[in-house]
Amino acid sequence: MTTDARMGHDPMPLPPCPDREWSRRAMTVLEGDGRRSADTHLVKPIFPGLKGISVYLKDESTHPTGSLKHRLARSLFLYGICNGRIREGTTLVEASSGSTAVSEAYFANLLDLPFIAVMPQTTSAQKIEAIRRFGGHCHFVDAPGEVYDTAARLAAEAGGYYLDQFTYAERATDWRGNNNIAESIFAQMGAEAHRVPRWVVMSAGTGGTAATIGRYIRYRNLDTRLCVVDVEHSAFFDAYHGGGRGSRCETPSRIEGVGRPRVEPSFVPEVIDHMIKIPDAASIAAMRVLSGRLFRRVGGSTGTNFYALCLIAAELMKTGEEGSLVSLICDSGERYAATYYDDAWLAAQGIDIGPHCETIERFLDTGRFEGEGSMPAIAP
Ligand SMILES: *Cc1c(COP(=O)(O)O)cnc(C)c1O
Repeated sequence: MTTDARMGHDPMPLPPCPDREWSRRAMTVLEGDGRRSADTHLVKPIFPGLKGISVYLKDESTHPTGSLKHRLARSLFLYGICNGRIREGTTLVEASSGSTAVSEAYFANLLDLPFIAVMPQTTSAQKIEAIRRFGGHCHFVDAPGEVYDTAARLAAEAGGYYLDQFTYAERATDWRGNNNIAESIFAQMGAEAHRVPRWVVMSAGTGGTAATIGRYIRYRNLDTRLCVVDVEHSAFFDAYHGGGRGSRCETPSRIEGVGRPRVEPSFVPEVIDHMIKIPDAASIAAMRVLSGRLFRRVGGSTGTNFYALCLIAAELMKTGEEGSLVSLICDSGERYAATYYDDAWLAAQGIDIGPHCETIERFLDTGRFEGEGSMPAIAP
């Protein structure tokens, strides 16, 4: 009899479904938030020395939570809700160097969910303040490599959900489209003289943005190539140049948002065409120079992107090639007034940006890449 009942021969009361009610409301809230937001600009600054080269910067600093992590946080929330892991009252935990936690705290607040960010002590005060303003709780660890285990443990203890950006960034984003950053960039390039960029240049934190761009380039059958740029203290570059996924770097990255102690699961080397590594002084110099040219401050990783873009522009100009180059403004410089924009902080870190600044300024004005800072790439 029991077997028959289970096989559905007898009518049985159907189970209630209270969670779906919450997740339906959550989806409506997220859709409403999306509708109120506009796409970000693709800005085209003019650099007089860069003959034949058009530079485009996708300005992700204008999202409501101030960085490209707004897209990622939204995707991670949708992923968790649609997988049935995020429910009413679920405590959310994240390992973050700051920007992701700011964006996730915003979405947790929208959905009235408790949120804990596990972050290194070195995270900028502005980001910590933003997380707290959105009602999030900050939990600090000493070494950046500790964030993963601590976040997993706190989530388990609370019976909650570890959002785990470093694992899920590459798969939570729809790589074929759905207005991901790549689809948006290539659509915005649609009426330009060189509408298929020669190169897209991007730094790596989770590696998720680079993965989305690299996959989209293949999916849309474009000639564009992808250059990923790594910073001084990070495991990605060595991994790409033969070190494999076990590569590590114990020294914490000084460029917030990029450079990792381990090769993150969301880093997809197979879709990267070229990888370079640059000194932190070059990243910060490029950040300062670009800020001057844009009349507003950009963040450190935007400097990382821009310096690598200049290196590629210099190579193209050497052989007289023309075309467009695209990179990202990842976040604004407001968050770094007490660090990268403070000369005393730079001096205390032993970072001398002077020679690099001169090299970049001269390059942007004359197209000549030379001077003390002109041999920047760190060999593998
Ligand atoms: C996360 C982050 C990046 C890198 O993006 P990923 O998609 O995680 O590789 C660059 N800059 C800033 C400020 C970031 O927060």
